[in-house]
Amino acid sequence: MHATLHLMQRYGFPAMRRGPLDTLQVNLGYRCNQSCLHCHVNAGPQRSEMMSRETVADVLAFLEVSGVKRLDLTGGAPELNAHFRGLVMRAREIGVHVTDRCNLTVLDEPGQEGLAEFLAHQQVEITASLPCYLGDNVDRQRGKGVYQRSIAALRRLNSLGYGEDGGRLALNLVYNPQGAVLPPPQAALEADYRKALGEGYGIRFTRLYTLANMPIQRFGSTLLSKGQFDGYMSLLKQAHRDENLDGVMCRSLLSVDWQGYVYDCDFNQMLGLPLAIEGKRRPHLGDLIGRDLGGNPIEVRDHCYGCTAGNGSSCGGALRG
Ligand code: SF4
Ligand code: SF4
Repeated sequence: MHATLHLMQRYGFPAMRRGPLDTLQVNLGYRCNQSCLHCHVNAGPQRSEMMSRETVADVLAFLEVSGVKRLDLTGGAPELNAHFRGLVMRAREIGVHVTDRCNLTVLDEPGQEGLAEFLAHQQVEITASLPCYLGDNVDRQRGKGVYQRSIAALRRLNSLGYGEDGGRLALNLVYNPQGAVLPPPQAALEADYRKALGEGYGIRFTRLYTLANMPIQRFGSTLLSKGQFDGYMSLLKQAHRDENLDGVMCRSLLSVDWQGYVYDCDFNQMLGLPLAIEGKRRPHLGDLIGRDLGGNPIEVRDHCYGCTAGNGSSCGGALRG
């Protein structure tokens, strides 16, 4: 795979500082039952990096002391971590809202029996990738048969109360473009998804998030191999909007890797760009207990244009439009 970090200092992204911390986003490991083409984590079934019980305990200790009320679990497939259910239960006990970034197909993987029911019982919000409402496009990006398995998983989640209008169990879908283009407007695409999934399969969901593809890891490497990297970077730079700077997720989110080291966001984690704090070259979550990160400089590079181009892109979807 081609590295892209050294190509990320040509345009000079504007300097930014962190605001109040709202969400702890924790990567529970790189193992995944899928190997999607656009994956910015380079996750897959062969990866063995998984968060240990001790680091999970560090995460819980941080939540308890910091009072941060949102825990966002990601991976790989976070559910494949042996400590996933214990972490969710304890976080819920201390009043933390939990979001699971679920790839849907994990719900019917061997060994994951009862997972959907567990998530519903714990009132975990689910944010699930479904990069198109057309089966061929999903299978091309995420693997053969993934679309039909995803549809089956969504119907199962609906049967547990997920995605009901005004209900307590939020089910968000995530769209990302198939190639080196920006996502279309979120509201219009959400209406198309509702129509296609509702009429075709009777599926309900809460919201659709449109995300831009980041020019890093597997997607960045593919762009380099196809000679499309410079064109995509220039597209992102030209579509940059200053008004999106306030809403980017690194202002209010802290990203934790499977070993407990911390970053301004998941993308910086994948690029190996640690959170910048004085006196620590590579800070660990334990170093942050009792420390206010408000006003801390954010480690920005040119990939950040992926968050501010067009309608903007964050872990909660478009920033506008
Ligand atoms: S399901 Fe998600 S984590 Fe797994 S390979 Fe696909 S994009 Fe990566
Ligand atoms: S990639 Fe996005 S979220 Fe990460 S530091 Fe850059 S602007 Fe912030």
